[in-house]
Amino acid sequence: MPADLRFPPGTVIGILGGGQLGRMTALAAARLGYRCHIYCPEADCPAAQVTPLSTAAAYDDEAALTAFAAQVDLVTFEFENVPFQAAQILAPLVPLRPGAEVLRICQNRVREKDFCRSANVPTADYVALSGPQDLAAAVKRIGGPAVLKTAEMGYDGKGQVSVRPDSDLEEAWQVMASHGDGPAILEAFVDFRMEISVIVARGLDGTCRAFPAVENQHKNHILDQTIAPARVDDAIAHRAEAVARHLAQEIDLLGLLAVEMFVTGEDEVLVNELAPRPHNSGHWTLDACSTSQFEQFVRAITGLPLGEVEPLGPAVMKNLIGDEVDRWPELLAEPGARLHLYGKAEARPGRKMGHVTRLSPKG
Ligand code: AMP
Repeated sequence: MPADLRFPPGTVIGILGGGQLGRMTALAAARLGYRCHIYCPEADCPAAQVTPLSTAAAYDDEAALTAFAAQVDLVTFEFENVPFQAAQILAPLVPLRPGAEVLRICQNRVREKDFCRSANVPTADYVALSGPQDLAAAVKRIGGPAVLKTAEMGYDGKGQVSVRPDSDLEEAWQVMASHGDGPAILEAFVDFRMEISVIVARGLDGTCRAFPAVENQHKNHILDQTIAPARVDDAIAHRAEAVARHLAQEIDLLGLLAVEMFVTGEDEVLVNELAPRPHNSGHWTLDACSTSQFEQFVRAITGLPLGEVEPLGPAVMKNLIGDEVDRWPELLAEPGARLHLYGKAEARPGRKMGHVTRLSPKG
């Protein structure tokens, strides 16, 4: 294997994005002897607080990206909405893991669903829309309740609106487009009984390891709680884990992929969304697995052998959103509760400020 495929401890990992995912990745990397250099538009971002190496510059600043590339050994990203142009500038200069094509697919809901379809993985029925003129025909084609979403830049339910065959379609488009105009997708509404996710890592030699499927409960479209493992039959959990492994292989992943899925009343497992990075629904692994998702991510992108994914026991992760973070003194005092705070100064509504993981005894 050429030496530059593996990056031993001591090398510098560049991370595009400076949120809590970058912060927890940098902490896991430090534990394994790596250094991280954070590239983020804001200087005092959560990730830059935990490592001395950082660049505060815009994602379209070519000179700053070029200088960043010269100071790191490889580059990854902690969120998939970094502008694709940044990846295009960096990719010829320094290894980018996962690669630019993975980013391109996961930045766009239509490409994501087309990719699932090409990999024979079921999703909700969907129609790609290039503009508002396509909506009426798409609603007819779906033929029942549906969800209109921006193709790009949507997260935590932003840029989404429910649509019925008798809805005012012009208004629906306007509501959706207020979060980002451009191409969109209309998906059949899935009457799911549970939302689950699987986080899978794929290493240099193509080995895949998936953490067990977990159950995700949302409030106001934002993840509120993750219950690990998911309370589903083994057959469903194994199917979901197999889907995640299959997608990681098909997309030729080097890194981590989070696969969000719906479980229907008929026990179908439908893929909703992909994220090629650590994911909020994997935070429980920090306290309940011998290898956390963040360490696994670092291992995968640097070419180290992947770690164990077997949980040490069940766990429940609760996000601390907005002023929920004010409960930190009582959470610190609670036996068995593991508190993680992200170093964000202002507890705005809907902002992820930290999380707490509660471990329950085995069996
Ligand atoms: P997303 O941004 O695609 O992850 O969607 C945010 C949340 O909206 C999901 O976690 C679901 O609770 C809900 N949702 C999204 N798409 C659908 C769908 N096609 N049918 C039913 N609920 C959906």
